[in-house]
Amino acid sequence: MTVTVATLGFPRIGPHRELKFALENHWAGKTNAQALLATAAALRAGAWTRQAALGVVHVPSNDFSLYDHVLDTSVMVGAIPAIYGWTGGPIDTAGYFTMARGAQGGATEAACAHGHTHHQGSGLPALEMTKWFDTNYHYLAPEVSRDQAFALTSTKPIDEFLEARALGVHTRPVLLGPVTFLKLAKTRDEDFSPLSLLSALVPVYAEILVRLQQAGADWVQMDEPYLALDLTDFERGELRRAYGALTHAAPGLRLMLTSYFGAYGDNLATAVNLPVDGVHVDLARAPEELDAVLALAPESLVLSLGVIDGRNVWRADLPALLDRLDPIVSRRGGDRVILAPSCSLLHAPIDLDLETAIDPEVRQWLAFGVQKIEELVVLATALNRGRAAVASQLAASAEAAKARRASPRIHDAAVAARLAATTPDMARRRSPFGRRQAVQIARLDLPAFPTTTIGSFPQTEAVRQARSAHGKGQLSDVDYTAFLRAETARTVAWQAEIGLDVLVHGEFERNDMVQYFGEQLSGFAFTRHGWVQSYGSRCVRPPILFGDVSRPAPMTVDWWAYAQSLTNRPVKGMLTGPVTILNWSFVRDDLPRSVACRQIALAIRDEVADLEAAGAKVIQIDEAALREGLPLRRGDWAAYLDWAVDCFRLAASGVADHTQIHTHMCYSEFNDIIAAIGAMDADVISIETARSKMELLDAFEAYAYPAQIGPGVYDIHSPRVPAVGEITGLLKAAEARLSAGQLWVNPDCGLKTRQWPETQAALANMVEAARIVRRSV
Ligand code: GLN
Ligand code: ZN
Repeated sequence: MTVTVATLGFPRIGPHRELKFALENHWAGKTNAQALLATAAALRAGAWTRQAALGVVHVPSNDFSLYDHVLDTSVMVGAIPAIYGWTGGPIDTAGYFTMARGAQGGATEAACAHGHTHHQGSGLPALEMTKWFDTNYHYLAPEVSRDQAFALTSTKPIDEFLEARALGVHTRPVLLGPVTFLKLAKTRDEDFSPLSLLSALVPVYAEILVRLQQAGADWVQMDEPYLALDLTDFERGELRRAYGALTHAAPGLRLMLTSYFGAYGDNLATAVNLPVDGVHVDLARAPEELDAVLALAPESLVLSLGVIDGRNVWRADLPALLDRLDPIVSRRGGDRVILAPSCSLLHAPIDLDLETAIDPEVRQWLAFGVQKIEELVVLATALNRGRAAVASQLAASAEAAKARRASPRIHDAAVAARLAATTPDMARRRSPFGRRQAVQIARLDLPAFPTTTIGSFPQTEAVRQARSAHGKGQLSDVDYTAFLRAETARTVAWQAEIGLDVLVHGEFERNDMVQYFGEQLSGFAFTRHGWVQSYGSRCVRPPILFGDVSRPAPMTVDWWAYAQSLTNRPVKGMLTGPVTILNWSFVRDDLPRSVACRQIALAIRDEVADLEAAGAKVIQIDEAALREGLPLRRGDWAAYLDWAVDCFRLAASGVADHTQIHTHMCYSEFNDIIAAIGAMDADVISIETARSKMELLDAFEAYAYPAQIGPGVYDIHSPRVPAVGEITGLLKAAEARLSAGQLWVNPDCGLKTRQWPETQAALANMVEAARIVRRSV
């Protein structure tokens, strides 16, 4: 009759990013596959024994991956695209990494300025990488064809189950479910939906389940996060059919259907009535769904209650959670309740104990992966043995929650007052675009097809070394500033020399486009070890937005002013927008995202005003992450876009008509958000277009986008230098869709990941192309 604790997945990278370093050494040819696999096995063993020691009963296995669990699933079922030349049989690590990263012919993996990755090279391409639901984790999209055959190709789930058992840990294997797998799959075939392959796929899953049952598994976690998204009746029917077949195949196994990142919503009745033994609910994202779950769930169903937020870093208020859990447990019985994080802990940093340098007041409000497990164990203990058994932990939790609610570090009356005094007009430019454009043209005196860049210039080894030496105290503030000024001066002079029209300072002082601002704003904290996997070996350390945001002092004005002092050409002020700062941080759970975003917007608005007052005629506010904040359900998009656009406008609209506001978005799917982009009312937007051959301007054309656009004319993810003719060709293609007077000429994104030689060659060609195209206007 006891409540047990589950984790749905544990971070793979290791407490000190051991997996990252092992992978990168292996890829660099410094270690063989055996050494890599040994590190991986040690990480798995560490994760299993640690979770078991903390008191987790349902310890996950097969949650580990050398690169990505979706790729593992493609390999498991033999969904290997033809280009990889696979003819059956097991896939070795080399073949696996080819699918993950591409291979040979100088294949390289290059991250663009915002950290997304793109692969190129003359050898084999990698599978397409894309974001895992609304997280910053990226998976490799399965690729299937109309005549796809599936076959059990890897026994990883069984191997890892046995591996854990040999260590004395009985695990609950995790599988990415067949419906979600196919919903995530891409195809090149027309008029074909991957889900139509379900009947062919289910037997492979059945085989895996049978083998797991034979190996001694009792529970298996079936991840079907697509249940948090919009599904059709047909798709729900397919799900029922698939799970009917699976339970039939392995009747001795108990399946835990697991969805996360949102409510089941209209999929709830389907989920709780599938022939499974348990259903997991994400109560961090959808606490309001609990009542419906309790009402609809058959009595025999085991409920896995995701009460601890796996997507965020906050410590929970345990007594408050117990108040909600007590009646459920008394009604359903402890053996039908499992406590779990809302989703896999893959998305949380591993261990707060490693953070010795973080502000102690903030620290007591935090819980990382390990601490979240400890919280779950405290909750389960209280439910099983009474609150008195864990009285001190409960008291400490309540105390921390109370301190957080009351802390003046979090609640700034001035910020609240300012927010309350915000009026709708503050989010409106003084005049409509047409009027602004006329005064801006007169003031800036730019040629047709003005040329510019997106902001950053190469962050060379020298720049990174200087930053790191400064961070360690080996380079004084004065010397570091002198170094950055020299880089900036050289970059400004060079831009003027090749004839760019609107210059930038180069962003050499910035470690990251969000962190740089977060470090100067009140309300943000930073970790040393709070790494979260973004994809493969790449990890990020998101800032922690813990309190009301304000801007104690100007953040960028000195760098802008220094750069502008060196040239007569306009230098753009360069800022990260509020929506992007929000979307790339861990955010507060005690305030709606929209409110936190408005606070950031007001801080950026102040910076915009200071730049304008210092003389900046052009100010760019990057919103690289605006689109990725779109909610999982379409029905929620409008509300998000409404406040996101409003926050951008609040940041941007405090200026005079003659100040030109640019924004930048480095991605290429605009159809869904074109109206929102229009509503942002920027004077100029630069976007990524080079690889789409300007086709995505169709969305702007169809919308009759009135303002100016800089469609990226070359791909900055590759060192390749575009020829002049290529760029003029793209500009012609752009002109066919928009009027010449609307067009700017710029690369797809910032240049920070590039080297100088290719940057100089590419920009010189870009300027030349603009000159050629101007002659024909
Ligand atoms: N201004 C930033 C840069 O150039 C923009 C980066 C981005 O949008 N990802 O690096
Ligand atoms: Zn960009």
